[in-house]
Amino acid sequence: MNDATVHNVIIIGSGPAGLTAALYTGRANLKPIVFEGLQPGGQLTITTEVENYPGFEHGIMGPELMDIMRKQAQRFGADCRFNIVEGVDFSASPFKVFVQGKEHLAKSVIIATGASAKLLGLPSETEYMGFGVSACATCDGFFFKDQRIIVIGGGDTAMEEASYLTKFGKEVTIVHRRDEFRASKIMLDRAKNNPKIKLLTNTVMEEVLGINENGKRTVTGARMKNVVTGESYIHEAEGIFLGIGHKPNTDIFKGQIDLESTGYIKTSKVNTYTNVTGVFACGDAQDHVYRQAITAAGSGCMAAIDAERYLESLHG
Ligand code: NDP
Repeated sequence: MNDATVHNVIIIGSGPAGLTAALYTGRANLKPIVFEGLQPGGQLTITTEVENYPGFEHGIMGPELMDIMRKQAQRFGADCRFNIVEGVDFSASPFKVFVQGKEHLAKSVIIATGASAKLLGLPSETEYMGFGVSACATCDGFFFKDQRIIVIGGGDTAMEEASYLTKFGKEVTIVHRRDEFRASKIMLDRAKNNPKIKLLTNTVMEEVLGINENGKRTVTGARMKNVVTGESYIHEAEGIFLGIGHKPNTDIFKGQIDLESTGYIKTSKVNTYTNVTGVFACGDAQDHVYRQAITAAGSGCMAAIDAERYLESLHG
C-alpha cells in the first residue's frame, strides 16, 4: 500500500551528506525520512580508520563514525530506514519516491546518494579492501609511510593520487593498461618529473597478493601482466590504490533532473538547488572535485538549510 502522508522531506542516501542533512532537518522539526540505500553509512563504511574528520583527535573507525552520525540524526527525530529507492517522479509536487513498489510523497527531496569508486572486480581486491587496498589516497595515504605503493589508472585521478602519495611512500608505481595516458598533460608531466614515481605502461594487475591469517590481512604485492609480451610477474608493494575513476550513484535520477554528461547532478554554484525546485543535491553525487567526508557533510548541512527555507517559502 502507498504511504498517503506527504512528508516534509525525504533524504535519499545515508553517507555523511545524507545523515548531516537528516540531523539538520531533524533539528528543524521537519521529521525527515531517510532511505539509507544499498550501502547504509556510505563509502566510509568500507574504510578502516578515518583520521581527517575534525573532532576526532585520535581518529575513528569509518563504520563507527557513521553509526554515531546516524544516532545523532535519530536523536532529533530522523526516521532512518534500511531501504533502497528504486525510482523517483519529480514531474510534479508532491514528489514521488518509490521504495519496494510503494510510493512515498514529499514536499522536498534531498539527494545524497554519493558515488562509488570504480573497482577492477578482482576477488582479491575485495578481500584486501581497507587492509592495504584503497580507493582514496587522501583518506589512507598516511598509513603507507616509507612503504612501496602501486596506483592503478592512467587518468587525472591516478596522477593526482600518485603525486599525493609520494608525501608518504618511498616509491609509487603508476600501473596503466595502455601506453598512452588519458591524464591531462600538466598532471602527467608532474608525475613524470617526480623522482619517487615510476610509470609502468601496458600493464594490468591480475591479482592482489597478501597474507590473510587469523583475521589479519596484509598486502605484499600484486601479480602484474604485461599485455604486450604476455609476461606475468610479481610486483612487491604494501599499498595498492585504485585510481580508475568514480561513478556517481545517480542512475535513478536520469530524465528526472539535470545531470552532467559524467552523471554528476548539476547544482547551482551557490547552493544545493537542482533544476527542479524543491529537489536538492549534496555530497559526492554532485561533487567530483573534493569528495571528502567533511565536504559531503558540509553540503548536507547546506541542503538541509536550503530545504528548510524552501518549505518555509511554501507557507508564505
Ligand atoms: P578517467 O575516466 O579520466 O580515467 C580513468 C583511468 O582509469 C583511465 O586511464 C582508464 O584507462 C583507467 N581504467 C578504467 N577502468 C580500468 C580498468 N578496468 N582497468 C584498468 N584501468 C582502467 O577518470 P579520472 O577519475 O581519472 O578523471 C575523471 C574526471 O575528473 C576527468 O575529467 C579528470 O580530468 C577529472 N579530474 C581532475 C582532477 C584535477 O584537475 N585535479 C583530479 C582528478 C580527476 P584508459 O585510459 O585505458 O581508458
